[in-house]
Amino acid sequence: MSVRTRIAPSPTGDPHVGTAYVALVNYLFAKKHGGQFLLRIEDTDRARSTPESERAILEALEWLGLSWDEGPDVGGPHGPYRQSERLPFYTRYAGELLAAGHAFKCFCTPERLEAVRVEQRQASRPPGYDGHCLTVSPAEAAALEAAGVSHVVRLKVPREGSVTIDDMLRGPIVFEWSTVDMQVLVKSDGWPTYHLANVVDDHLMGITHVMRGEEWISSAPKHALLYEYFGWPMPKLCHLPLLRNADKSKLSKRKNPTGILFYRRMGYLPEALLNFLALLAVPPIDGEEVMDLPTMVGAFGVEHISLGGPVFDTTKLDWLNGRYLREKLDDAAFEARVREWALRDGYLERILPLARSRIERLSDLGQLLAHFFSGRLDVDPEKLREGKLDNETLRRAFVIAGALFDALPEWTVPSIEASIRRVAEITGAKLRDVVRPFYVAITGSAQSVPLFDSMQILGRDLVRERLRIALERLGGATSKEQEAWKKGL
Ligand code: GLU
Repeated sequence: MSVRTRIAPSPTGDPHVGTAYVALVNYLFAKKHGGQFLLRIEDTDRARSTPESERAILEALEWLGLSWDEGPDVGGPHGPYRQSERLPFYTRYAGELLAAGHAFKCFCTPERLEAVRVEQRQASRPPGYDGHCLTVSPAEAAALEAAGVSHVVRLKVPREGSVTIDDMLRGPIVFEWSTVDMQVLVKSDGWPTYHLANVVDDHLMGITHVMRGEEWISSAPKHALLYEYFGWPMPKLCHLPLLRNADKSKLSKRKNPTGILFYRRMGYLPEALLNFLALLAVPPIDGEEVMDLPTMVGAFGVEHISLGGPVFDTTKLDWLNGRYLREKLDDAAFEARVREWALRDGYLERILPLARSRIERLSDLGQLLAHFFSGRLDVDPEKLREGKLDNETLRRAFVIAGALFDALPEWTVPSIEASIRRVAEITGAKLRDVVRPFYVAITGSAQSVPLFDSMQILGRDLVRERLRIALERLGGATSKEQEAWKKGL
């Protein structure tokens, strides 16, 4: 049987470098074995999934040079490859589980579930569904449904014994069934949860190896049970260690930008970023760390993946990118790359209109638009403090803005503006006085092209990074301060 792997991202935010890493490992494993690599969009969380995020994921993976054999854009024999278009499959298989008595309808109200949780917490018992609706008879269930009482479908989980999960990197892992929750499989709106949709699709799409982040290990027993109930062979599992910051903490955007497209924006070459990610799973060949995709495929093996946690070491990335820029491109290719970077996605068309009314000579453009072609800005703290806000208010304003920006579902000019207005309200400062230091942090100058447009075009990741640097220049903020300032947002 041919090896088939997949990357199954949920389109709920900016595509993450962790997703790129997992995609690369899946790609390398499939290609090493002459198999196929698929892309499936897991968008069953209807409230959080967005088409922009899906587009960005495809764009980011394509930019990296990872191509998939089947997926929502290229199609394939096992489509559709977007879960929101596969509802009939999930309904059918949930129905089968119910009919066979492997799942049950649960009519518990959120209030009851909360009361159970509180009780469990007070008794220091692990949280989880208490099995209340297991005893609801089919006749009772039908009556409740007829009366319009909403319900979810839950997985029936044995209360005794254990299950052993075999992980390609970790070997056998034993889970006691008593610690496994009776997972919701179908929500009250009829949409499946991740667990049901993921298992049904992996089976229907012929996935042979599931290679995903280690945060999913605790889901494996539930999935094993589903495969058993359906009578399907379970794919081999390989849970990959999560990327870490240099200090070994979990990679987080507060310490390191995590968006793939941030690295494009910063001017890293896709092959350098891919090479950098590959080095977390592929040993250098004869000490040579620079390698192209076919070389990575040849050298890859899961035995090289260390459980210690791969470090997303940006110093190493910088070094590698520098080598690509210096050694791997001739002058013409270098020029082409610069053009591609500077002019991508109609960049000029977006930024020029912001500058036009503010110039007298074309040569004024250089200074006015420089921040659009820069990465991190080294701002002078005195310049940040030149306006009306004191140091403390400035630090608060940057922290609050960072938190509000992170929470925005969409990164648009109106949503950015609304956030800055809220910063003014919360800090009790005038909007004009708040805007000024943001101008300095984002554009490097107190006077520039419109701020909110600049922020929108630069992207959330780079804005976050520039605000982080500005905050640092003002003395930073302790976790305690950050927590206090973000309270109630
Ligand atoms: N949709 C899940 C995610 O976003 C996929 C996990 C898996 O690969 O099973 O990470």
